[in-house]
Amino acid sequence: MKIAILSRNKKLYSTRRLVEAAEAHGHEVKVIDVLRCYMNITSLNPTIHYKGEVLEPFDAVIPRIGASVTFYGTAVLRQFEMMNVYPLNESVAVTRSRDKLRSAQLLARKGVGMPVTGFAHNPDDIQDLLKVVGEAPTVIKLLEGTQGIGVVLAETNKAAESVIQAFMGLKANIMVQEFIKEAGGSDIRCFVVGDKVVAAMKRQGPEGEFRSNLHRGGSASLVRLTPSERATAVRAAKIMGLGVCGVDLLRSNHGPVVMEVNSSPGLEGIEAASGKDVAEIIIKHLEKRVAEMSNSASRSRTRGKG
Ligand code: ADP
Repeated sequence: MKIAILSRNKKLYSTRRLVEAAEAHGHEVKVIDVLRCYMNITSLNPTIHYKGEVLEPFDAVIPRIGASVTFYGTAVLRQFEMMNVYPLNESVAVTRSRDKLRSAQLLARKGVGMPVTGFAHNPDDIQDLLKVVGEAPTVIKLLEGTQGIGVVLAETNKAAESVIQAFMGLKANIMVQEFIKEAGGSDIRCFVVGDKVVAAMKRQGPEGEFRSNLHRGGSASLVRLTPSERATAVRAAKIMGLGVCGVDLLRSNHGPVVMEVNSSPGLEGIEAASGKDVAEIIIKHLEKRVAEMSNSASRSRTRGKG
């Protein structure tokens, strides 16, 4: 197959591993920086131009689109889709997963366990919003935050109110969440490929830190998932319409709760913690899907809902 990997930097661990795995399976791979793509949008013959050349047709595309380039990156991915290139994750699903409120609403509607979550726009509604979410401590999150930045634990209702007011004053979009204390500063990353969790790791924040992000000094270790954790992760991926994703769970008193579904999950931490060749598993999945899809009329149908 000819495979395009949409990535801004071919030296990144995840990109390198995907290139290696694809080449080891005899595929031809090109790493493409989405921001250097420009497009001709016509119904008859859509094309993509890249650094002065028209890109040759590809069989499959692997999007690794960073949060900061979601808008343009998903437009480029859509152009590949219009050219009948099979996407590992579809543009609509990537867009959906980048909107934390939309994702939360979608998962909640389908009955997936989640921390009690609220959001509001007007500062006058803060006190009532806090009542809806429950008593302090509460977690307040900037919707645009990543890697744990903009995630605050408010120990008291007064502190929560002040933090929310401050964020709203900055015109930041936020959500307020029940604090899952019993998770003990850890979360579980389930790496889903197709309809299976192929690897999982537990991330534990350093002493005194409730955020488990590796970027915030957390450490990763192998974990054994319960059947209900596996089922929850696979279900969340399916609802989001993502073929490959990282589903982050917290172990709560009332079972696994989903915190986030990440459409470009990193490979470095999960391969190191699980000892699995996740890159190869992804390439094998892609081979299977492309073979199935090339015989199927449902090729351009959108997966997932909402
Ligand atoms: P980001 O997308 O910036 O990583 P997350 O929502 O994943 O933000 O939160 C960062 C970390 O904070 C999580 O990995 C988890 O350890 C912790 N955390 C987030 N929300 C909660 C919560 N409601 N209860 C307990 N811990 C939480």
